[in-house]
Amino acid sequence: MSERVYIGLGSNLSEPLRQLQSAIEAIREIPATQVAAVSPFYISDPLGPADQPRYVNAVAALDTELAPLALLDALQAIELEQGRVRKDERWGPRTLDLDILLFGERQLDEPRLTVPHYHMHARAFVLYPLADLAPELRLPDGRSLSELLADCPFQGLERLS
Ligand code: ATP
Ligand code: MG
Ligand code: MG
Repeated sequence: MSERVYIGLGSNLSEPLRQLQSAIEAIREIPATQVAAVSPFYISDPLGPADQPRYVNAVAALDTELAPLALLDALQAIELEQGRVRKDERWGPRTLDLDILLFGERQLDEPRLTVPHYHMHARAFVLYPLADLAPELRLPDGRSLSELLADCPFQGLERLS
């Protein structure tokens, strides 16, 4: 059975636009997985350390038959393939970040995977592109995306034309 998954993409190093485009091409190659839609791209201010470039962000809708951890493995392999270096500094600059935002109606709390993504409700660079794809969306806990958006300022988010 295939499930609808939403992925957040982000990059602020080594030509971020190209990083996101090449990530989407790589996601198309994941087995048993289709890319159903990709949101417009946005520019956002960095979380955490401010002395780093702004980010390019987008959200993609996937349909997958993979189990959640198998999808996470595939996404982390793409991050590494595109030169992601894991450092101790949290939220430091990176070539590519691929986060699982929602996985069907599932609520997961495993050592490697928390779904819905633990901070998505507070991140403009996640909620606005998600709303471009699925304005009527509800989280598994019943909260609507429009409710979350009402409580989430733009945080300097800019849509790329
Ligand atoms: P944030 O999670 O605040 O956006 P980050 O994306 O920079 O920070 P990463 O370094 O990419 O954090 O990931 C750290 C760990 O988070 C990963 O090793 C992964 O196992 C775990 N993780 C937990 N839940 C998720 C999720 N929903 N999507 C992706 N990774 C997750
Ligand atoms: Mg992240
Ligand atoms: Mg991540």
